[in-house]
Amino acid sequence: MLEINTYAATSATGDLVPTRITRRDVGPHDVLIDIKFSGICHSDIHTVRGEWGDQQYPLVPGHEIAGIVTEVGSDVSRYTVGDRVGVGCMVNSCRECVNCLAGEEQYCLAGNIGTYGAKDVDGTITQGGYATHVVVNEDFIVRIPEGLELDVAAPLLCAGVTTYSPLNHWNAGPGKKVAVIGLGGLGHMAVKIAHAMGAEVTVLSRSLKKQEDGLKLGADHYFATENPETFEALAGSFNLIINTVSASIDISAFLQLLSLDGALVNVGAPAEPLPVNAFALITGRRSFAGSMIGGIRETQEMLDFCAEHKIGAEIEVISAEDINKAYERVLASDVHYRFVIDTSTLV
Ligand SMILES: [Zn+2]
Ligand SMILES: [Zn+2]
Repeated sequence: MLEINTYAATSATGDLVPTRITRRDVGPHDVLIDIKFSGICHSDIHTVRGEWGDQQYPLVPGHEIAGIVTEVGSDVSRYTVGDRVGVGCMVNSCRECVNCLAGEEQYCLAGNIGTYGAKDVDGTITQGGYATHVVVNEDFIVRIPEGLELDVAAPLLCAGVTTYSPLNHWNAGPGKKVAVIGLGGLGHMAVKIAHAMGAEVTVLSRSLKKQEDGLKLGADHYFATENPETFEALAGSFNLIINTVSASIDISAFLQLLSLDGALVNVGAPAEPLPVNAFALITGRRSFAGSMIGGIRETQEMLDFCAEHKIGAEIEVISAEDINKAYERVLASDVHYRFVIDTSTLV
């Protein structure tokens, strides 16, 4: 077993601290990855603080992993030492259910095995990417194409695919009007990707504070939702709305902004149920839907798309010792637009 450096939570309430953990030996189908960069996702904070269920500690979060292959198991066929690779939100699934067989492992009927805080096939608890190394089965690894730097690629593994998947599924593209609610880690990727797909993109943000950023990222229009006139001006406008906000918002008001057959897709996960007025749905044959990350095949497709269109995340690279400070800034929405840990600082 390989003993490595990480930053881990030791309780639901304390700071993350330097912690040594072990990784399993590289099995026949495993790949050992030397992690170079690891993004900080809002989910990391919810999870380590026990807000999405009790955890076992120490817990190493991180599911936006980019690095280099340093060892491969005897039966690994698709990767070799030196390959640039990524790992996202899951590291295994049952591989047998109808959803796994369809390549939608994120919706595995047995539950996909999360990159951290989940029970692995060997009964141990998975540990994530705020670490120098990780061992992952080759079927849950993706290739980071040349031309995409590892630091800006890391957040694509969660924030990128979480927004790419619904944009892809609901056919964002030329002639389609797409709105993005919220311009944070997820929202800024939704804007970049929808723009690259050829859609006309509108940001719906609480205020106009980030308007300049939004337009620079590729939005065609920018509206403040704190202004009630926005909802009158944009009524019936959009084919697709991606809601990246995990706070509770007035879904029925936003549904009225959809055109006939439009869909509002939640990718944020508010803790409280969201009430929906059925009239807002039936008066325009509208849908209220949800979407969670993407399958491995689609994650690779997203990375290839981003490389082709020269899209990376907007990032702020930090040292491991600044992780706790970064968490506070994420909670205060003070991040432009993703923190990425330089894992060479995990000493
Ligand atoms: Zn995430
Ligand atoms: Zn399955």
